[in-house]
Amino acid sequence: MCKYRRVRNVYTQCGHGVNLPEVEINCELDNCVFSARHPEDCQGEACRNRCWQYHQYPEQYSPNINTLCPACQAAGGAQ
Ligand SMILES: [Zn+2]
Ligand SMILES: [Zn+2]
Ligand SMILES: [Zn+2]
Repeated sequence: MCKYRRVRNVYTQCGHGVNLPEVEINCELDNCVFSARHPEDCQGEACRNRCWQYHQYPEQYSPNINTLCPACQAAGGAQ
C-alpha cells in the first residue's frame, strides 16, 4: 500500500525548518490502486473489494542538518 513521505529538514545553526516536496513511495503490490503494478483491468466494485483504495499514513522525517538553512545562507549567514 503506497504512502507519502514528508521530510522537514531542520537546520541546527539557525533553527529554521524547511519542508521538502512530498514523495510518493510506491508499494509495487498488485492489490493497491496507486501501485505501478495494479492491473489496468482491475476496476469498479471488484477493485474496491480486492485492492487498497487509500494511501497509508504518511511517514514523517525531520533530519537535523548542521548548517544554516538555504534562506539564511542566501542572506549571507547568521553573523
Ligand atoms: Zn500501493
Ligand atoms: Zn484494483
Ligand atoms: Zn535559517
